[in-house]
Amino acid sequence: MGRGPRLVLLGRQGAGKGTQAQLLADNYGVEHLSTGDLFRAAAAEGTSAGLEAKRFMDAGELVPDATVIRVVEDRFTGDFLNRGFVLDGFPRTLPQAEELHRVLDGHPLDLALDLEVPTEIVLRRIAGRRVCEKCGATYHVDMPPATEGVCDSCGGRVVQRDDDTEEAVQRRLELYEQETVPIIDFYCNLGKLSAVDGIGETDDVFKRLVDQVEQHFDPQSP
Ligand code: ADP
Ligand code: ZN
Repeated sequence: MGRGPRLVLLGRQGAGKGTQAQLLADNYGVEHLSTGDLFRAAAAEGTSAGLEAKRFMDAGELVPDATVIRVVEDRFTGDFLNRGFVLDGFPRTLPQAEELHRVLDGHPLDLALDLEVPTEIVLRRIAGRRVCEKCGATYHVDMPPATEGVCDSCGGRVVQRDDDTEEAVQRRLELYEQETVPIIDFYCNLGKLSAVDGIGETDDVFKRLVDQVEQHFDPQSP
């Protein structure tokens, strides 16, 4: 018996991070932490941090680093670090990556997986994307839930995200290039980056990701 892997999943909006992060977390029995899901849940609850985050999200802007760090920091308990995790949507800026590096002190990241899907393809995927308000499960107009508008796994409402408008998506993709692509170099310099082709069936992409984890993660390492 060893521990679970500590993973970061990078990739453009619509690359399939949410779906693959959940599959990886289930596969390794570790927690899936999505900052997007955290902020959407906080906004739905109407907490002040949630409502503040929602203003940025709906405009396609990034939530300020200080707010993001305040919200996620509580999650990085000793237990969370020891068991392993899959981070989805965090870090998204260089200051966030540096903060994560500090927080992980003594529990190094095993791998940052960059899920590569070109912009033309993610634009098409996002236009048809639908999401469960309650559990974050994602659907597509071509692959809807069994009952129109009702989540298969939790019965929540399946809707289009407020930030999946064309303008907000353009802005988010622009910010990905400016703010998030530098993180790819950051992990590359640490020798922790694996790029994975994100085009194809969900299962095939998942196998590619697991393959990388198996090559780079040692469950017996500290
Ligand atoms: P996407 O990757 O498609 O943008 P997410 O659900 O990951 O979807 O994030 C939705 C929105 O939440 C982002 O556009 C941004 O406004 C906010 N957000 C999520 N994570 C972060 C983060 N780490 N830093 C700043 N903003 C974030
Ligand atoms: Zn659901």
